[in-house]
Amino acid sequence: MNAQVDRPIGCVALLFAMEEEGRPIAERLSLGEAEQLHEQLPARIRRGRLGSLEIIHCVNGVDPIHGVDRIGTESATLTAWLLAETCRPDLLVNAGTCGGFESRGGSIGRTYLASGDLLFHDHKVPIPGFREQGEGRIATLDTGKLANTLGIRTGVVSSGASLTARPDELEFFDREAVIAKDMEATAIGVVARDLGLPFLALKAVTDLVDHPEPSHEAFLRNLASTTARLTDHLEALLRFIEEGRSIQDLAG
Ligand code: SAH
Repeated sequence: MNAQVDRPIGCVALLFAMEEEGRPIAERLSLGEAEQLHEQLPARIRRGRLGSLEIIHCVNGVDPIHGVDRIGTESATLTAWLLAETCRPDLLVNAGTCGGFESRGGSIGRTYLASGDLLFHDHKVPIPGFREQGEGRIATLDTGKLANTLGIRTGVVSSGASLTARPDELEFFDREAVIAKDMEATAIGVVARDLGLPFLALKAVTDLVDHPEPSHEAFLRNLASTTARLTDHLEALLRFIEEGRSIQDLAG
């Protein structure tokens, strides 16, 4: 699946962990009815167009046992692989919410494009080789110019399995100057790298990791307003791409 980096992007796949993160852009773009991505998984896709650009919108879906969205790295990996193999997009975008960091300029509602390396903060294996593999360090596209054009910021995104953070993870965030903590981006980045599929992560802050208020309280309070901001930025990104942009135009 080696994308033609200098040809206009024809098809973008958007991958969301939560229904509430994905619904506003689907409604704004009047995408089609949801269909199952695979008969045995809750992941759902909706198809549509923005001008000449084909849009495939995917959410992980609701867990049949627990009745909540299938967030986290495992579902992210599975859905990303299936989505990429089934729909063969030219570009994969993971859009969603994240924890931000007040100490590095973060604030509720601010959106970031992932830059530098995508990291995992909770895969600890102190054996050479496995340590580095555990930390991910998946190179992103050089998104600086694109972010400037869209008027958003860039920064290092780190993924893990928990909404909460342990003290050793807080040290990791400071050491690596992480600006967005989420539960999916790096897992999806691994799949995209393996498949040679260009990938962007767009993350908007619902809560502040280095703030005394527990993340889950801020998350629930800010989810709707932050998702509205995320949707505006995602629409701006898609409109920019629709003007005949190639992968090369997005990177560097
Ligand atoms: N407790 C929520 C469930 C989701 S929170 C609820 O009741 O609805 C976690 C989701 O939001 C994940 O998909 C993750 O990517 C993102 N997220 C937002 N803030 C986060 C944070 N501080 N740490 C990790 N993930 C975060």
